[in-house]
Amino acid sequence: MMRAAGLQRYQRLPVAPGVLHDTVRALGAAGFHGANVTIPHKEAALAIADTASDAAREIGAANTLTFEDDGSIAAENTDAPGLLAALGGTPPATALVLGAGGSARAVVWALTHAGTAVSVWNRTPQRARALGVPVVQRPVPAELLVNCTSVGLDRSSTDFKDLALDADGLSEYTTVVDLVYRAGGTSLIQQAAERGLHTVDGLEILVSQGALSFTLWTGLPAPLQTMRAAVQDKASQSRVPRAHPLQVTDRRSGNPGS
Ligand code: NAP
Repeated sequence: MMRAAGLQRYQRLPVAPGVLHDTVRALGAAGFHGANVTIPHKEAALAIADTASDAAREIGAANTLTFEDDGSIAAENTDAPGLLAALGGTPPATALVLGAGGSARAVVWALTHAGTAVSVWNRTPQRARALGVPVVQRPVPAELLVNCTSVGLDRSSTDFKDLALDADGLSEYTTVVDLVYRAGGTSLIQQAAERGLHTVDGLEILVSQGALSFTLWTGLPAPLQTMRAAVQDKASQSRVPRAHPLQVTDRRSGNPGS
């Protein structure tokens, strides 16, 4: 997606947690301009950075690092605004977020700051209490449903039943978002679409947060259609696209804005 957008030196860099600090600290001097960070490094990435946006600080995690010319590292979380951008239009009045992990924290933060009344359901309710919004024992009706669990990642068919939802109950929502992405869409998205609901799949969320990282690094508007096409092309080649722990872009590559 990033290469298609023009960041031709964007590459995967698997990093073990024990060497994350030293690796990230060396990347700027090695000519890299920025990095996307994902599981399990998002919290550690924030701790390594010298400065952080309000979103990254309040969520407690960063998915985008920028290596500044003065050697400092700036942390941002584009997962949160990426969700709002993917939703488009006016934020919903009410939302139910499924899950209480890192992505749920970003989604709850984004929606709450947009003025949405958010509830959370999680398999382990005590974990959800840390999110600071009402925790429900069973999924409740809302304008928006967002799956922030990893359910749907590895299996197909009816796996969203692990979320205490049944397909007919989906009609209680206007829009269904699934952060999980897989070739052909998750069963949650498929069932929601079959019922005529507005759906936003994990690939669109991926594009949306990636577009914000692209603009942060280059100062340019992101070529959304090109990025979307690249992601969909890649997803159709592999049954389940895997997240990459650290992905970097090189400031000397002649990329836009580099
Ligand atoms: P995380 O911090 O590991 O949290 C995982 C969540 O899934 C927890 O709430 C966990 O519940 C729940 N869960 C796991 N297995 C479950 C099961 N069998 N039944 C019910 N709940 C289950 O992960 P994360 O960082 O929030 O990411 C969650 C998913 O979103 C991942 O699949 C990730 O790939 C995807 N994601 C996509 C994007 C994107 O750009 N599209 C961005 C970020 C994340 P417990 O607390 O009970 O364990």
